[in-house]
Amino acid sequence: RTIAELVEGALRDIPDFPAPGVLFKDITPLLADPTAFAAVIADMAARHRAVQLVAGVEARGFVIGAALAHALGVGFIPVRKAGKLPGRTASLSYDLEYGSATIEVHADDIPGGARVLLVDDVLATGGTAVAAWDLLESVGAEVTGFEVIIELAALGGRERLAGRDVHALLTV
Ligand code: IMP
Repeated sequence: RTIAELVEGALRDIPDFPAPGVLFKDITPLLADPTAFAAVIADMAARHRAVQLVAGVEARGFVIGAALAHALGVGFIPVRKAGKLPGRTASLSYDLEYGSATIEVHADDIPGGARVLLVDDVLATGGTAVAAWDLLESVGAEVTGFEVIIELAALGGRERLAGRDVHALLTV
């Protein structure tokens, strides 16, 4: 089986979550399946042997990102929602469909020029990924790419990330 088939078989589709009309891609069955989880991490790791850090977006990006960092033998940087990190933070606000959101990182944990791989579970509109990418670069990182398990192609995230290295294990 290909990695896309493995991912597809381990996902759960939840209709009308978190709002009516939205079909939510739930990765928790994949995380609970040791074969699928290990295959996802190994597949991502194989493309990024030269990175110095992995950054993951709260909250599911923490799970994938920490496992990936461990597999690569590098450190992990949490990209958090505003107000959660106690130290000196850099922050970036971005627009959502309704309202806006702010994300933060601990700037002191990222050496200048560090090659950082960004990861998350799902690429939808790309707003979160662009914000996290730009936030990491604002503190001097060189973001080398963005890895996701699932890309929702109809929402245009790849276009929004044009010119940046984006890889999805499964595109739907
Ligand atoms: P975007 O900013 O529109 O690309 O949305 C991506 C963010 O929303 C990521 O952090 C995802 O974790 C989350 N997200 C959006 N849609 C889904 C979904 O169907 N399943 C799980 N997470 C999702």
